[in-house]
Amino acid sequence: PTAMREVFLETPKVRWSDIGGQQKLKKHLRKVIERPLKFPEKMQRLNVRSKKGVLLYGPPGCSKTLIAKALATEAGLNFLAVRGAEILNQYVGESERALRDIFQKARGARPSIIFFDEIDAIAAKRTGSHGGVNVLTTLLNEMDGIEELRNVLVVAATNKPDVLDPALMRPGRLDNIVYVGPPDFAARKEIFTIWMGKSVISPDVDIDELAAKTEGYSGAEIISLCETAGEAALDDEDESGQSQDIMRHHFDSAFERVKSQLTSE
Ligand code: ATP
Repeated sequence: PTAMREVFLETPKVRWSDIGGQQKLKKHLRKVIERPLKFPEKMQRLNVRSKKGVLLYGPPGCSKTLIAKALATEAGLNFLAVRGAEILNQYVGESERALRDIFQKARGARPSIIFFDEIDAIAAKRTGSHGGVNVLTTLLNEMDGIEELRNVLVVAATNKPDVLDPALMRPGRLDNIVYVGPPDFAARKEIFTIWMGKSVISPDVDIDELAAKTEGYSGAEIISLCETAGEAALDDEDESGQSQDIMRHHFDSAFERVKSQLTSE
């Protein structure tokens, strides 16, 4: 086991507009997270408590991390990111202390978000006898200790929601459960458009066609495809000695190299 790296406070710069697609989800999260921050008195009048936790689940590379960061950026929250496996990979007893330290740090930086990536590593069902049980208990206790969203929001992500202990999803904990799926046609178009807005693209590149050809790709795979096309353009540049925009044939060769790993659900 290795000592855990220090968890740093970040100020993410991801805006909602950097994320292609996911319109309904963005709108839902804005409402649930931003409203109580902006209008606590309205919540109080109607006796509605603000949410303390969000669980994002879905296949890899489909923007769970981006969404957590955008929540922080757009709502002006400090951001602490932790990987589940990183917490578990410690000497006995150290994991619990590491968790408590993270919550302490988040309280000190409030309003803040703690983002637990791969939450399944520390919050699997309490079956067997392995050492994760105390870690889960600590996590639940820490979450129950948070009073209001105005303090600390917990956002967790997983590719394996079915292994999570149901206690984690009880009301008042990670009770806002959101599926983050692979991008549909319109979302894929947006992801290409956002990326290409920061590049130099030849007019012979057809975004509709690219979006159609990337059915089943994750957002991460689409970005990888774009970057591979960019590298092909750089290869051309090396050969010709002239600067190259990214052209259709660069994407053609990128498709040879970048295949989707996402299995459809
Ligand atoms: P994992 O489960 O593997 O942690 P994830 O769902 O958290 O994956 P992200 O880390 O948010 O995925 O996405 C990986 C990268 O893919 C992003 O940094 C971004 O470059 C790209 N990406 C994914 N989805 C989108 C999207 N909807 N719009 C723009 N870029 C995207």
